[in-house]
Amino acid sequence: MSQAGGQGTLFVISAPSGAGKTSLVAEMLRADSLLGVSVSHTTRPMREGEQDGVNYHFVSREQFEEMIGRGDFLEHADVFGNYYGTSQVWVRETLAKGQDVILEIDQQGAAQVRRLVPECVSIFIVPPSAEVLRQRLVGRGTDAPEVIERRLDEAEAECSHAVEFDYLVVNDDFDVALDDLLAITRSCRLKMSVQQARFADLLTGLTGANQ
Ligand code: 5GP
Repeated sequence: MSQAGGQGTLFVISAPSGAGKTSLVAEMLRADSLLGVSVSHTTRPMREGEQDGVNYHFVSREQFEEMIGRGDFLEHADVFGNYYGTSQVWVRETLAKGQDVILEIDQQGAAQVRRLVPECVSIFIVPPSAEVLRQRLVGRGTDAPEVIERRLDEAEAECSHAVEFDYLVVNDDFDVALDDLLAITRSCRLKMSVQQARFADLLTGLTGANQ
């Protein structure tokens, strides 16, 4: 898949759990109507408050494996024992309409997307400190200590890949982090390669203005 002129930009956003990624992406979508988010397929059970087709497309392992076989996924990964994957067709069609797309995926998926779509823009979100991350993961204190330790190990493993991303956003103050994310998406939209296609007539008119 390539991002030729006139196509939207593909943003890949990863973070350890507890960094606030889902809330930040939800606010980005509210603030910027040109952004769309890909709804992933997953085999993990639905959590309370989640809706099929909104948070994820919830499918069985057999269905997911059939989709892998058909080449339906742009990327897919096993995250904490469940499959997660991004629909190839939806992403390609949405970018072709000129709309920017956000993939909210883990670092394994991000690495696959970077290989397939080198023009994509990747962003890693971190909490302001290891202590804050621990507090956020400990949460309401209802989880067993071994569950919390496992989450911390998983968060540490995810963060060890942060430097592979193009941008780093620190979520200390939510509004500042949101501003940072929107600054990245906005500046990408102003790049010459993107603007040249959008304003082709303007640029032609301006270069011929003296004739
Ligand atoms: P959760 O089950 O808590 O919603 O998500 C667990 C992890 O899976 C998060 O890091 C999330 O970003 C990641 N994830 C969600 N959808 C996808 C996907 O389509 N592909 C990959 N590789 N990771 C995903």
